[in-house]
Amino acid sequence: MSDGFKLSIVVPCYNEEEVLHETTKELTAILHGLIADQKITPTSKIVFVDDGSKDKTWQLIDTFSKENEVVSGVKLSRNFGHQGALLAGVTTASKDSDAVITIDADLQDDVNAIPKMVDEYLNGSEVVYGVRNNRDTDTAFKRSTAEMFYKFMGFLGVKLVPDSADYRLMSQRACKVLLSYKERNLFLRGIVPLVGFKSSKVYYARKERFAGVSKYPLKKMLKFAIDGITSFSIVPIKMIMGLGFFIVLISIVLLIYSLVQKVNGNVVDGWSSLMISIWALGGVQLISISVIGEYVGKIFSEVKQRPRFTIEEDIYTEKTQQENKR
Ligand code: UDP
Ligand code: MG
Repeated sequence: MSDGFKLSIVVPCYNEEEVLHETTKELTAILHGLIADQKITPTSKIVFVDDGSKDKTWQLIDTFSKENEVVSGVKLSRNFGHQGALLAGVTTASKDSDAVITIDADLQDDVNAIPKMVDEYLNGSEVVYGVRNNRDTDTAFKRSTAEMFYKFMGFLGVKLVPDSADYRLMSQRACKVLLSYKERNLFLRGIVPLVGFKSSKVYYARKERFAGVSKYPLKKMLKFAIDGITSFSIVPIKMIMGLGFFIVLISIVLLIYSLVQKVNGNVVDGWSSLMISIWALGGVQLISISVIGEYVGKIFSEVKQRPRFTIEEDIYTEKTQQENKR
């Protein structure tokens, strides 16, 4: 290990032209520092993944990769979403990198945690989670919804590392295992803990987005949360079953009540109990069907075995091949 191991930093980018310059500058500085310390090889790379951006993101990546030895990129043929872009980057980079770090393009995650992750890797960790020790810069809404989500997932029995997002280091071996999870509905932060191997955590303060706006509007966030829940847990089905039993219990109580009223000679007001039963059962059935539908939908998309991403251009492999020839 004279000149270190090969590290790749995978950065998903969707319409990030405003931040790319600064991101490249900061990540390059970090890489150069690590190269100087002989912890990583000079062939280590930044791998920008252009997730079907509509702005100049790819042109910038292309230009930077010509000027800058450590910059490379992969262009997806359309927008596959954050998780798809991450997977595309990890697939490409883990072919020949000893370790891969994933980080958002907007510099919200502190790049200074990278050398700490590298040290953890050198100490034998195969998965190093970046964990936020504060979320002061996120909006109160984002903070509280995220907290609720992590609590709810815990309640459903899905193991997640709290306050860790998609900022982490994985060894080549851990990446290979991750990629062997063939599901289409991607929820990477749920799969990574299932990969196993020795893991550790590195703490950092989450910052404001450097420029531009969040590419995760509420609609995408909700879809992401629902995907996470239904891809990893069948507890919702069990909850509906419990609700079903509960409603049946209520209808028994109602039945006894109306019988007592009849024996006492009161005129049974059949209309109200009838209406209650019809509405209650109808409601339960509808909820049940919708939950089952959610899972059927998952089966539907899994059996299709569609590719999860398609790479259009790959400067990374080109560059590496040239470097290997040298
Ligand atoms: N991103 C992506 N594809 C998308 C949406 C987002 O590759 O469809 C990238 C985006 O460029 C950024 C990262 O995913 O690097 C996280 O997105 P963002 O910072 O907008 O999310 P937030 O931090 O607000 O949750
Ligand atoms: Mg962000």
